[in-house]
Amino acid sequence: MTKGRIHSVQSLGAVDGPGLRYVIFMQGCPLRCVYCHNPDTWEFAGGQEMTADELVAKVVRFKTYFGKDGGVTVSGGEPLMQAEFVTELFQKLHAQGIHTALDTSGILLGEKVEKLLEHTDLVLADLKFTTAEDYQQFAKGNYGHVRQFLELTKKMRIPIWIRHVVVPNMNDSLASMQEVKDIAEEYPNMRKLEFLPFHNLCQEKYDTMQIPFPLEKTESLSQEALNELVSQLK
Ligand code: SF4
Repeated sequence: MTKGRIHSVQSLGAVDGPGLRYVIFMQGCPLRCVYCHNPDTWEFAGGQEMTADELVAKVVRFKTYFGKDGGVTVSGGEPLMQAEFVTELFQKLHAQGIHTALDTSGILLGEKVEKLLEHTDLVLADLKFTTAEDYQQFAKGNYGHVRQFLELTKKMRIPIWIRHVVVPNMNDSLASMQEVKDIAEEYPNMRKLEFLPFHNLCQEKYDTMQIPFPLEKTESLSQEALNELVSQLK
């Protein structure tokens, strides 16, 4: 039985997918997004090892709160790095009649990822940047892979929500946000586009870990300012 490396869990979250959800944060991430709120999930060696059965036993205690929309979201870190484990977990959750959502950058591809998607009801796809140069510079990842991952969800007809963090002076121009919207609309399986405001509440984590926060000097974006920008999109 594969064991997963788990960073932490949140028993009833309301922001990572539909309804009330049990959110599982996987340990380990190959990316280094400049606005990352969870640098403590980066190291692959950290976290706590658990089996899928152990997690399912924790989840089922909350099943009555899920209602018809809720369920489980696996986030990270980057959950695709532990695709086999998450596949086993999702299979077991489906056996309990529980909805499964995967919150991912979409940075990985391959057979294991495809198998995982077969057991995923919803993908929360974090479209971080919209050019290969920006993706490499600000997230240290391969944008081509992300687009191929999105294509795969389209081919497999898996509903996706596209999410995008808007950072002041980085990607908060209307042109940049319009580009995200245009890309999102290329996917007929896209059910929702969510723009999320950057905030710098994670500074303390970086200080504790004694690593520099690249956006230390960037101010948070208010929800009102973001709503105003979104209202101007075509
Ligand atoms: S993918 Fe997520 S966990 Fe990984 S660096 Fe980016 S924001 Fe942080």
